[in-house]
Order: sequence, then structure tokens, then C-alpha cells
Amino acid sequence: NPRVTPTAKVKCLKGKTPTTLAIAEIEKNREDRRKAMAQVKKEREQDILNNERNGTPGDVDFQRMIKQFREQDHQEFRHTSKGDTKITICVRKRPVNKREVRVKDYDCVTCWHPKVFIHDCKLKVDGITKYLDSNAFVFDHSFDENTTNATVYKYTAQPLIQFIFNEGGLATVFAYGQTGSGKTYTMEGIQSQAAEDLFVEIDKWQLQHGIVLELWMSFYEIYGGQCQDLLRQKRLTIREDGNGEVQIVDLDEVKIHSEAELLQTMQRGNALRTTHATEMNDQSSRSHSICQLNIREATTMKLHGKLSLIDLAGSERGADTKSHNRQRRMESAEINKSLLALKECFRALDSGGRGTHIPFRASKLTQVLKDSFVNAKARTVMIAAVSPCASSADHTINTLRYADRVKEKPVSNDGFI
Ligand code: ADP
Ligand code: MG
Repeated sequence: NPRVTPTAKVKCLKGKTPTTLAIAEIEKNREDRRKAMAQVKKEREQDILNNERNGTPGDVDFQRMIKQFREQDHQEFRHTSKGDTKITICVRKRPVNKREVRVKDYDCVTCWHPKVFIHDCKLKVDGITKYLDSNAFVFDHSFDENTTNATVYKYTAQPLIQFIFNEGGLATVFAYGQTGSGKTYTMEGIQSQAAEDLFVEIDKWQLQHGIVLELWMSFYEIYGGQCQDLLRQKRLTIREDGNGEVQIVDLDEVKIHSEAELLQTMQRGNALRTTHATEMNDQSSRSHSICQLNIREATTMKLHGKLSLIDLAGSERGADTKSHNRQRRMESAEINKSLLALKECFRALDSGGRGTHIPFRASKLTQVLKDSFVNAKARTVMIAAVSPCASSADHTINTLRYADRVKEKPVSNDGFI
């Protein structure tokens, strides 16, 4: 198979018989293809170079395919503030951080509200050709990496605050996801925004109804089967009485007088959680923290409404239960059990109807949250936090699947590509 050199080509053209013309044509096409290939190769090399300069190599072909995916036309959907359903499920993707750039990790998650895509790079049967496999999920909200805490708050907790005051509701916001996915970042953002709105609403309500309302707060974490008060720094016991009612013995409620005091108290609890975490080998990824804000009528102490802000333990335990010591394995089992129980409670709540069995007894976490599940005036928002990185793709898929199954019925399908 002798290669036709440019000189050979010139000779052919001089001959000008139909055969030589056909050969020349084939040759030209081949030359064009070769140029196109060279161009692609050059661009690809340039991409690799650029990536190296920016510190983000990884699989360039995969990244190019993701880039092309994002360049395609897609319909923009605007977030609309509904917040009137029993359960709202959202996903929030955090930005890629510096460390991930340094270790050449890269972004494989696309959030186009209300959808989330997780991209996987696959090989065709020929074993060489790569293609992009994009798994899509639909939620009530999909918040991308540029979404601020203020926006997340606006479509998640803020409608619940209206519900608490207008309807005397019990509202809960959960952050679910693997450790490092942005749960605490999100919940602390919601805490500070809620601190402001709660006092504005208390003032408004008092003026309208002539009844004095007070805000009482408790803040604690559940770790294994244990409970720790984050305001008083003491161990608490969870006790079940003969009727299966659960109580946290000696849990304090602190009266809060102003927005500033509320912020300060929240920060005190958060800080205790953090110091605790470093001392106890990252306990924060193994504990559920529960910040409860009770709105009570001042004269009777009757509960008017309640907002619970819950930062759940890292959801990554399932896979690593083998590698730890016995204590760790038991903790992991407890976390798995509570997250599973939580999902079942959500599903029961969502399928609704009187007399539906809500399996809150299956874990300490759900026992403690019982009233938020069995009460007719209960509403819940779950925010599934995800890392953007390819190295976390498996955990991200698990989180999205969990969030997907929390609702009994599929979420609205409008906006599917
Ligand atoms: P988790 O509580 O799920 O373990 P964190 O909330 O502690 O995760 O987030 C891990 C890191 O990522 C923190 O340094 C946090 O500041 C950062 N982070 C998380 N979400 C965001 C975001 N949306 N924007 C910017 N930084 C974020
Ligand atoms: Mg955290």
C-alpha cells in the first residue's frame, strides 16, 4: 500500500485520464480529511495545554463533550415561588473548589432548573470512541453553582415562614448529601436569612392580631443514639415512654428577644458543633444537627408555629461500613438507618391521606421529628446538596436517587428535553 506523495499527485493530474482524475479526487478528499483531523488534534492538544495551564486536565475529551452539551440550546425555566406543597425537593450544586482544581478533578454536573444532569464518559463497543452519557433528574428546584444563599432561601425556607404565621404550620428544612457537598453552607445561610424574617413576621402578626408572640429556640445534635445540647453544652437522653412518645430529657428552650440575639445564639451552636467536630474526629459529618425555632403565644406558651432547620449527617456512609472499627460501623449503621427512615417518612407523608402509617419509630431522628411528620399542618423542604466533581459522581448519583424517591409521585415533567 504505497503512499501517494504530493509529487505522485502532480504527475497524476498531468495525465488527466478519467482514472487519474478520480484518483486525484479521492486523494483530495483524503487530504481534506487529514487536514480536518490535524485541526481536531491541534485543538485537542491546545485544550490539554490550556487545561494544564489552568490546572484542570482530567479527561479533555469528556470535558469537551460536557462543554458542547452545555452550549446546546435549552429552554430557560424560571424559579417560581410556590412553597404550597407538603414536600418540596431541591438540589443545590456547589462550585468546584481550589483543591479540586489542583488535583485535576472537574465538573460533571449541569443544573438547568428544574433538571439536574450528571454526565458520565463512556466507551462505545469499539473500545475507542468516547461518548457522553447524561443522566437527568427533575426536581422542584435545581440550583446551579452560581445560585446565592439568598436565592436558595427565597424558594425554600421563605415560603415556609409565611406558612408558619398564616396557618400555624410546622415547617422543616433538611439538608441532605455527602460530606463536603455544601449542607452546612446552605443551612447556615438559611439560618441567618430566617433570623431576619422571623422577627419581621412576629411584629407584623402581633400588630394584626393583638397577641404577643415569643420565639423560643432549642439547638441540639443527634450522634449515634446520643443527643447533645448545642446551647448548654450538655449530654441529653432520648427517652421513649410507655406510649411510644419520645422525649428529649432536659432539652432547654431559650427565649430569644431579637434578630441579633437569634443570630448570635445560632452562631454559638454552630461553633460548638465545629469545635466538637475537630476534637471528636469530624463528628459533624456523623451527626444530625437540629435547630428548632418555636413561635409561642406569650401568655399561654401555646405553640403557634415551628421552624426546624436540620443539617443531616453525611450520606456517604453506606459504602464504607466495612473499613471502620466497631464503634464506627455502629454509627454508620445508625446513620443509614435514620436516613432510610427519613425517606420512608417523607414518602408516607407525601402519599398523604388520613390513616397513612408513618414509620417514624424506625430511628431516633424520625422519632424526635415525629410531630413534623404526623401533624396535618406540616410542610417539608429537602435540599439535596451535591458536589460538582467527577470524583464524587457515584455519591452524587446516590443523593439524586434518594431525593428522587422521597416523593411518592414523580415531580412535574414539564421541561423535559
Ligand atoms: P457539608 O456540610 O455538606 O459537609 P460544607 O457546607 O461544609 O459541606 O461545604 C464544604 C465546603 O464548600 C466549605 O468550605 C464551604 O464553604 C464550601 N461551599 C459549599 N457550598 C458552597 C457554595 N454554594 N458556594 C461557595 N462555597 C461553598
Ligand atoms: Mg457540614
